[in-house]
Amino acid sequence: MTHVGVVGAGVMGAGVAQNLAHSGHTVALVDRDSDAIKQALSGIETNCRMSRLLGGPEIDAEEVLGRIRADTDLLLLEDAEVVIENITENWQLKRALYLELDAVVRLDAVFVANTSAIPITRLASLTRRPRQFVGVHFMNPVPMKPAVELIPGHHTSPEALETVRELLGSMGKKAIDVNDACGFVSNRVLMLTVNEAAYLVHEGVADAKTVDEVFRSCFGHPMGPLETADLIGVDTILYSIEVLHEHFADSKYRPCPLLKHMTDAGLHGRKSGEGFYPYGPSATERTAPAAGGGAVRSVPVN
Ligand code: NAD
Repeated sequence: MTHVGVVGAGVMGAGVAQNLAHSGHTVALVDRDSDAIKQALSGIETNCRMSRLLGGPEIDAEEVLGRIRADTDLLLLEDAEVVIENITENWQLKRALYLELDAVVRLDAVFVANTSAIPITRLASLTRRPRQFVGVHFMNPVPMKPAVELIPGHHTSPEALETVRELLGSMGKKAIDVNDACGFVSNRVLMLTVNEAAYLVHEGVADAKTVDEVFRSCFGHPMGPLETADLIGVDTILYSIEVLHEHFADSKYRPCPLLKHMTDAGLHGRKSGEGFYPYGPSATERTAPAAGGGAVRSVPVN
């Protein structure tokens, strides 16, 4: 059993905390936003209670929640042996957080960065412990995904890598080793695909539903790229493609203006109740096919 700090209680942090607690670890969960913490804990409770119904194992929600302590204060992390960071994909935010974390968390603890694209060596350079700094790109939804990308930074020690590999094993995750590079393997490809799919909607080539149907029906993908964007978070897609664009200084990563518009409008996907598709109780009513071809969303194209 490891005492693990989890910072960020959004889509990923909540999933990581649930997976850890269900695997028998104790968790200190911190977010700067108390509403995010409340939402994370209630989501974890619902997921545990629904697990059996959705074909998963029977999970004792009280036992899982009993292993999680949550607060807005980073001091909750001072005893953690491993700290997994899952805050917003933004260099300035992550930079400020790592400077604070490095001062609060005990010096022998291992830091794990869960990022979509930011190079691990760059994040590790912010701390006094680059040897104890590892990247893990978890997949979403965390408790249901069997594999992750495991990324050592330039200075990561073999011991720190093994500590994290073992922790991942205890969570039921297969670690796929990849080298440190912006976007790693998965998001170098996925973010480009989603960004280009957003351009198709932006330019009026096809609506979101049609774009996704091509990927589902023609390629047999279980989800289309824009449904995937809603699952990940449209804001997170935008921030990730911005990280790739800045890092490589290559115009092939130019962010689609529609992603910017949707992020500004709060259309962040499932987590906000609306993205390329609407979610929630009134969704059926709002997805009624529009005249002339069944556009799912009336997002502006220019
Ligand atoms: P999210 O927007 O759902 O949640 C981010 C959380 O971080 C929010 O609750 C916010 O309040 C909190 N936060 C921001 N700054 C903070 C700070 N200084 N201190 C404490 N909390 C802070 O984002 P997410 O989808 O959970 O993504 C988190 C990280 O995981 C990002 O780096 C993202 O790129 C990466 N990631 C996301 C996915 C995905 O599918 N969403 C998959 C893999 C990796």
